[in-house]
Amino acid sequence: MQTVLTVDAATMAKMKATYKSNLPLPPGASFRARIKGVTITGYQKSGKVLFQGTLAEQEAARWGQSTAQSSAPRSPHPTAGALPAGFAGWTVLGSDEVGVGSYFGPLTTAAVYVTSDQVPELKRYGVADSKKLTDPVIIKLAKQILADCPAAWLNLNPPAYNARIKKYNQAQLKALCHNYVLGRVLDQIAPTKPRAILVDQFVSPRTYFHYLQGQPRIVRRNVYFQTKGERAHVAVAAASIVARYQSLLEMDRLAAQAGMTLPIGAGHQVDQVAARLLKTGRNLGDFAKLHFANTRKAEQLARR
Ligand code: MN
Repeated sequence: MQTVLTVDAATMAKMKATYKSNLPLPPGASFRARIKGVTITGYQKSGKVLFQGTLAEQEAARWGQSTAQSSAPRSPHPTAGALPAGFAGWTVLGSDEVGVGSYFGPLTTAAVYVTSDQVPELKRYGVADSKKLTDPVIIKLAKQILADCPAAWLNLNPPAYNARIKKYNQAQLKALCHNYVLGRVLDQIAPTKPRAILVDQFVSPRTYFHYLQGQPRIVRRNVYFQTKGERAHVAVAAASIVARYQSLLEMDRLAAQAGMTLPIGAGHQVDQVAARLLKTGRNLGDFAKLHFANTRKAEQLARR
């Protein structure tokens, strides 16, 4: 029996103090202890903690639950840290966004509700981190997900994005978008509630909820945060695929409007295409996130 938890630095330190090393350390491990029915090995660098033995699951569950419970009196929402044991198989509403690092195109955020029954099925389809999938696969999987799962998405097109980025920083804008799409899916599935909500983490939970202060509706019950959330639950992977799909559709529309292919990313090729748009008298703000350094570079290129 083996259970693996991914924990934050604070939890790792607490575990290291709790399980006093009494076994030789394997390469890369920061502690290894044998207690009744379970051997616990911690890897500080990756944040992974391995529980092995007949009582592995029970011992790991202590951390999952204690992390959520111990934070409850201090704050109304669970904090980052170890997800509860067995989380990957839970019924979860997951959210993720794409387009943050891309000059052209929208910031797209999606949320997808996946029941525990659907978890194996989605994994079988090949639902995984959208960054690792080709466009045709994204399109096929997104259609399957949208046919099977309640979902919502928000395309913040360049004009809308440019207006808002004057008022909010990018992380805050992302927080507002996640909160919005999560609320939309909760409405769709009501009165059913997910066992947990998982946000692909981009800031600390404290900062995330700070950014949402003053919003008319703040989704905070049972919200968990995890970097590389697509590995923690397939609902986040599904959300990343739906977001990528909606973003692709929008990029196609923008490319048609521009009359040229709009490259992704923020590299030199992007500067050149942006310069060409300027030279043909187009308004860059219709196609691109203007606060990127690419805008200034494109203007310099266009003047030559
Ligand atoms: Mn993400």
